[in-house]
Amino acid sequence: MEANYEKTKERMSKDEEYGNCCFCGVSLFDPNGIWHFGHNPAPYGDDDDRCCNECNEVIVVPTRFQQMRDLINAANDNGEEE
Ligand SMILES: [Zn+2]
Repeated sequence: MEANYEKTKERMSKDEEYGNCCFCGVSLFDPNGIWHFGHNPAPYGDDDDRCCNECNEVIVVPTRFQQMRDLINAANDNGEEE
């Protein structure tokens, strides 16, 4: 996850334009200019950032699950890794 995050930050500095996926930079508007995709990339990105469906599924959702597991592990304090 750390490595992914570093890569993501690199990309984001290049693709800060609002309206593009904050991870891969793909346009979030269809050819008619209609807002098409866009997910909140939290815990990545800033408040205004959005990401495409693919990056949401590949990057954001797994990260959230990992965070959830970390929280559960911490709460259970069973010392199990990952
Ligand atoms: Zn994307």
